[in-house]
Amino acid sequence: MKNKSHFVIGNWKLNPNSTQEASSLYQAIQVPEKLKGQIFICPPAIYLSDLQHNQKSNSPQLCAQNLSQYNAGAYTGEISAAMLANAKITHTLIGHSERRSLFAESNDIVSEKVKAALEQKITPIICVGETEAERTAHQTDEVIQSQLTALKAVLAGCTENICFAYEPVWAIGTGKTCSAEEANRVCALIERFWTEKIEASFGFSVLYGGSVKANNAPELLAQQSIGGVLVGGASLIISEFQGIIAAAANAQDANAPLGQQVLR
Ligand code: PEP
Repeated sequence: MKNKSHFVIGNWKLNPNSTQEASSLYQAIQVPEKLKGQIFICPPAIYLSDLQHNQKSNSPQLCAQNLSQYNAGAYTGEISAAMLANAKITHTLIGHSERRSLFAESNDIVSEKVKAALEQKITPIICVGETEAERTAHQTDEVIQSQLTALKAVLAGCTENICFAYEPVWAIGTGKTCSAEEANRVCALIERFWTEKIEASFGFSVLYGGSVKANNAPELLAQQSIGGVLVGGASLIISEFQGIIAAAANAQDANAPLGQQVLR
């Protein structure tokens, strides 16, 4: 049987509006002992330090939502990998579909950001996924492979543990979930890309994201190739998010007899 971790990563996007709200939301999340190191919250960057200073032993880890591909200089509004590393932030999302579509992040920019993160020993959680039009045109596999191929050069020789999130764009924030079977199929394709096509030297997990809720998390997390979930809207509702964490704990019991792995 495969020894697999079950990560749950909550992406708060542009919410909430105040440090107080962020803090009470964060403090309400309880991470069970067996999932330590596997539950993350990605708050807006302005809250990272405050939440970090109020972390308890059962609090989620913290992850940035984005970082700059640039290290320093005249780049107004950006946050560098070194700034995150110096603030002891160890993980970051990269290439979320909202960054790709609303902020024109191309595959090249995503690669530069992955490079910047790895140089500072920050673990990238790299998002890939097809649009609705691409799915309808039966281009899902091709799109995923091209997004992964664009990362080949920057990941060559990487020996860290990293993370990929399959997030079909049409399922993000829409309430339309990819079926567990199809999500598993694409996550398996990502797995095979790095293990068979490329023979990557890094360790990795593949997560699914797109309208994950407490009621669909158990089926998704039971899939062989899904190593966790990336959650948007439901991560802002404590009962939902805690339900997803419980599903991850159950999936881990069922699937990981050899114990816990930590994404770092
Ligand atoms: C996301 O933001 O990555 C996401 C998957 O959002 P939602 O869960 O709301 O679809």
